[in-house]
Amino acid sequence: MSLFDKLVVKSLPLVPKPVVRYFSKRYIAGEHLPEAIYAVRDLNGIGFMATMDVLGESVTEKELAVNMLRECKEVLTKIKQENLDSNLSIKLTQLGLEIDYEFTLRNVREIVEHAQSLENFVRIDMEDSSTTDQTLEMYKTLRKKFSNVGVALQSYLRRTEKDVTELVKKPSNFRLCKGIYVEPEKIAFKKREEINESFLRIIEIIFEAGSYVGIATHDDDLITGSYRLIEKYNMKPDQYEFQMLLGVRPDLRDQVLRDGHRMRIYVPFGTYWYQYSVRRLKENPKMAGTIFKAILSRKNGK
Ligand SMILES: Cc1cc2nc3c(=O)[nH]c(=O)nc-3n(C[C@H](O)[C@H](O)[C@H](O)COP(=O)(O)OP(=O)(O)OC[C@H]3O[C@@H](n4cnc5c(N)ncnc54)[C@H](O)[C@@H]3O)c2cc1C
Repeated sequence: MSLFDKLVVKSLPLVPKPVVRYFSKRYIAGEHLPEAIYAVRDLNGIGFMATMDVLGESVTEKELAVNMLRECKEVLTKIKQENLDSNLSIKLTQLGLEIDYEFTLRNVREIVEHAQSLENFVRIDMEDSSTTDQTLEMYKTLRKKFSNVGVALQSYLRRTEKDVTELVKKPSNFRLCKGIYVEPEKIAFKKREEINESFLRIIEIIFEAGSYVGIATHDDDLITGSYRLIEKYNMKPDQYEFQMLLGVRPDLRDQVLRDGHRMRIYVPFGTYWYQYSVRRLKENPKMAGTIFKAILSRKNGK
């Protein structure tokens, strides 16, 4: 990222919300469920699986968490009715983790039970490091009863290699990503090479144990590295999948599919789009260009 792009990233909180909304359109399926259904049907039609995400996080009122619970269940019901190839991704702070652990566990259990009754699967996203212990605890608790629940792991956390070594002692289901939150160097690798080395080491641990992994990255080196490990461990196509975010590197996404691997696209939607959009925009290497294009096209009335 150029110095100019970095400056734009820093000033992102000053960008008016409608502008952020405009240039984050590519990352979000829409504000309502029918738009997300439409996007998933489209993706399924060209060979991709999906995971749907009702946007929202850091909920501090029980009523909002219960609304989220209802929406998540509705998504699962709709996936079944519409015969879509999609599962559901959830965030624990969207279901009450900042309010009360037991309350959140009840909410998540209800979603996972509903998914089970519909033969579907729920992935728990991993949020910032203040939530890691509780997220892994909840995953382990639910996993005792349900096989249709999985959790995301972050390769930038120094602890993850140890966590995964413990977790794979029981059959497990992971999504592995680099991690998106800003964490202190004490607990997180900062250099790209270290994060990538950690990523590939964790995949090896998972493959060796015979657990399932969704390899969630848009990084060419990690995809090539994963291909090597898939070959080394002679993994069958149903023992892993690749995952990418809606709107990010469709070229690479298509290539992975052409190379004969399964690919799942993360399809977020909903009215609480702001925090997610800002995270995606900060990762966009052409940040400044994207923003100025958006501002200019607004001025031109597009
Ligand atoms: C399916 C999925 C689920 C995820 N779930 C979580 C989660 O639960 N918890 C969590 O902390 N993180 C999650 N992430 C985010 C992840 O941690 C990374 O922040 C993000 O994927 C970028 O890392 P990367 O591996 O793609 O590598 P990067 O090095 O960041 O990106 C590789 C290349 O992809 C391109 N690229 C990446 N992002 C963008 C963008 N926004 N716009 C345009 N180009 C881009 C760039 O060309 C870049 O060079 C998830 C990611 C995916 C794909």
